[in-house]
Amino acid sequence: MSAAENSEQHDIDVSLVKKDFPILSTQMNGKRLVYLDSAATSQKPVQVIDAISNYYRTFNANIHRGIYKISEQATEEYTKSKDKLAEFIGAKSYQEIVYVRNTTEAINLAALSWGEANVNKGDHILITQMEHHSNIVPWQMLAQRKGAVLDYVALNGDRSALDQESLEKQLEKNPKILAVTHASNVLGTINDVKAITRKAHDRGAVVLIDGAQSCPHMPVDVRDIGCDFFALSGHKMLGPTGIGALYGKRDLLAAMEPIFGGGDMIRSVGFQTHTWNDLPWKFEAGTSNIEGGIGLSAAIDYLNGIGMKNIRRHEVEVTRYAMEKLGGIRGLKMYGPDIDHMESRGGVISFSMEGAHPHDVAQIFDDRGIAIRAGHHCAMPLVEDVLGVGAVSRISFYIYNDKNDADAAVDAVGEVKRVFKLQ
Ligand code: PMP
Repeated sequence: MSAAENSEQHDIDVSLVKKDFPILSTQMNGKRLVYLDSAATSQKPVQVIDAISNYYRTFNANIHRGIYKISEQATEEYTKSKDKLAEFIGAKSYQEIVYVRNTTEAINLAALSWGEANVNKGDHILITQMEHHSNIVPWQMLAQRKGAVLDYVALNGDRSALDQESLEKQLEKNPKILAVTHASNVLGTINDVKAITRKAHDRGAVVLIDGAQSCPHMPVDVRDIGCDFFALSGHKMLGPTGIGALYGKRDLLAAMEPIFGGGDMIRSVGFQTHTWNDLPWKFEAGTSNIEGGIGLSAAIDYLNGIGMKNIRRHEVEVTRYAMEKLGGIRGLKMYGPDIDHMESRGGVISFSMEGAHPHDVAQIFDDRGIAIRAGHHCAMPLVEDVLGVGAVSRISFYIYNDKNDADAAVDAVGEVKRVFKLQ
């Protein structure tokens, strides 16, 4: 039985999971690969790799236009993947799922289409100090185009969560939109997006959630959250690169204009005019990322097979274990919610070591076959201005990581201390 065939509440058998991920039995620098960079991109199980390979081997054809068997099959599998994603995040139907390349493109689509039509000179756009660049720059560009004002919700005193007073104060400006991350890729903080959405709706704001770091790691229900838009990336949730989605409430998407024109997004075209296709196709001009949809579909099957609650519980356990161990190391500082607040923390641990640059730390990990990331993590305002450091090292866990992997990271920290002769 594969690791993904038992979604009942259970502990994840990581040794079984690891077997599904071919890359995890390879080596890096002559050492067993310990992959601790899933916040950047996840590894892919054989089920996803095979689904993509099977598509190319047995029913590769363009979708929607063919009146022959394999084109119909490709169309069916591609559409089915949207049904699956809709169900996975609690959307009403596939019509609310627009496929894009990634979270970045999803947010840009919202800013370019909804933002262009609804944000005007002097309006306020609200984001937060813990956003990834992909949830900052599109709003800066919109604000610059429109002469709108971009405001930020500040972090609390220990810089581990959003400051509620700041949120309330910024909402008093009646922003047109609030765009906020569900889970921070630097701090690990999980925001209470349901409560935030309710507050923002009370002030008449539309709400966009950046789900890049939540959707792969915990159950997500967009209708329960109540958000208007939700952005996600397939490559962070076991799927291939080049496929992501913008969820939008049907009425909102129906009122929005496409940003690209071309084939597939039209119902009819004349020499001077055209009419648009139905949702969600009116936003998807040109040939789609068919293999991406099919691969994402297999990824969702895999995640559902294990169960998102089980995944969340597993990550909390491994993260707590790692934090306990790292917490005992002198000169090592972790960011984000502390170990007593695991309910509002994901499987990301960013840290600094006194006397060692994060890039050197990552290099020593690399020598030991351990993949971690160091830098500003595409969150320069947060890392540089709020945390006041140029860079941090980041460990991030997923379903294929266990306490042995956490131990490997802790041992590597010990090596950093030896190399740099730190106390
Ligand atoms: N938001 C967050 C919180 C992220 O962590 C990331 C990826 N690091 C993104 C957005 C952007 O995702 P992508 O590069 O897939 O567009």
